[in-house]
Amino acid sequence: MHRSRTSLHGLIVVAVASVAVHSQTRIQSSTAIYEGARLILGDDRAPVENGAFVVQNGRIAAIGRKGAVSVPSGASHVDLTGKTVMPALINAHGHFGYERFTKAEGEALPENFTAGNLLDHMQREAFYGVGTANDGGSAAVAIALQFQQDQAARNFPPAAQFYFNAGIVPPNGGPDQILIKGTRPLHANYEVLRAPEGRAAVQDVVAKNIKQVKIWLGDRNGSYPAMPWQVFDAIIDEAHKNGVKVHAHATTIRDQKDALRAGADVLVHMVQNTKLDDELLALVKEKKPYWATVIALGDRSDVCESDPFFTQTLSAKIIADIQANACRPNQNAAAREELLKANFMAMINAGARLVLGADTGIRPGNAFGSGDHHEIAHWVQMGLSPAQAIVAATSRPAEALGLKDVGTLDEGKYADFIALNANPLDDIKNTRQIASVYLHGAKLDRDALLANWRK
Ligand SMILES: [Zn+2]
Repeated sequence: MHRSRTSLHGLIVVAVASVAVHSQTRIQSSTAIYEGARLILGDDRAPVENGAFVVQNGRIAAIGRKGAVSVPSGASHVDLTGKTVMPALINAHGHFGYERFTKAEGEALPENFTAGNLLDHMQREAFYGVGTANDGGSAAVAIALQFQQDQAARNFPPAAQFYFNAGIVPPNGGPDQILIKGTRPLHANYEVLRAPEGRAAVQDVVAKNIKQVKIWLGDRNGSYPAMPWQVFDAIIDEAHKNGVKVHAHATTIRDQKDALRAGADVLVHMVQNTKLDDELLALVKEKKPYWATVIALGDRSDVCESDPFFTQTLSAKIIADIQANACRPNQNAAAREELLKANFMAMINAGARLVLGADTGIRPGNAFGSGDHHEIAHWVQMGLSPAQAIVAATSRPAEALGLKDVGTLDEGKYADFIALNANPLDDIKNTRQIASVYLHGAKLDRDALLANWRK
């Protein structure tokens, strides 16, 4: 604590001195106007054709039609004519810090969970235009909190902003069979047996100023200890009394009903093997939960098809390994897709508030950043409009995560944005036509990141 305060003080002294000597150049370099692009704002508003926006000190200072936005004197001009600009994506559900990109099937080793590996994963997200990424309950709390402090103090190079839900589980329950090999030895989760312990875990989360928790419902077909309803009821009640939101893993109709009745704020997963019933849809209509679909988990089709957008950040070894071991044809693919589509649109039509999350970080074929683009395109394939998909990948996850500085292109927000070579409102796969990514107003050096991963 004392050390970081001292170094921060040192930084301020240096900055003040250099402003005094080079004030003119510093102001020029910190203010820029981006002109000529179509601006997709991230919420329900219509896009702005031929737009302009001013970025000052990492935030958007003004935005509108080109010509209607006044140019501060000394601002540098960036011509984005022909491009489409949208807010950086916000990933509400991944698992960061464990994966090592070494095998086709994931392996989560506790020793992988370091600040360096977390940073690598946040850089992978950023490379693909994700500006904010939230871990769904698998992060080791002490390391994650320190990482957030260091990121806020700008001790790391540019990367997606890291957030996490504290995970609360029954003993030996919670994360899936891959992740739990990392989380359990680290005691990453609060392990609670009874309701009072659940409440105590929430109190500890509150004391640490963590705003969101994750719980797991169900027993994974009898292979896991399930959290008793008295425990998840108590956790959700205690969380809501303290302004903490609860994300709930629930993969079956029964578990999703339980989660909604108990008042979970964010449903994680979709029911994939049974047609939804009217009772669940009535609950969705009543509760209007946020909903992270995480359909992409286990889907390696992009890597199997050697799609360069997906393979570019993976080593040749891991691509070959996935293609040799994880690309079996699925006889039931068409029937499964029909059911997914029916369930997905039924949830949307009932009022589920869709948010981006692809469960990346468990299997290398569903990789950080690229997996998020796969999820977005899959929604549109199932019936969502591209405009709705973009809202669900930007402003709505910001709202679900309680983040006021990101999610739309608006005055006062961080200048976290993607410049695209083609319009994703015409074809959602154009979110993959990334010309550049800016985080807090700084252009990300994507080539340098890529060169490092390909080594
Ligand atoms: Zn997950």
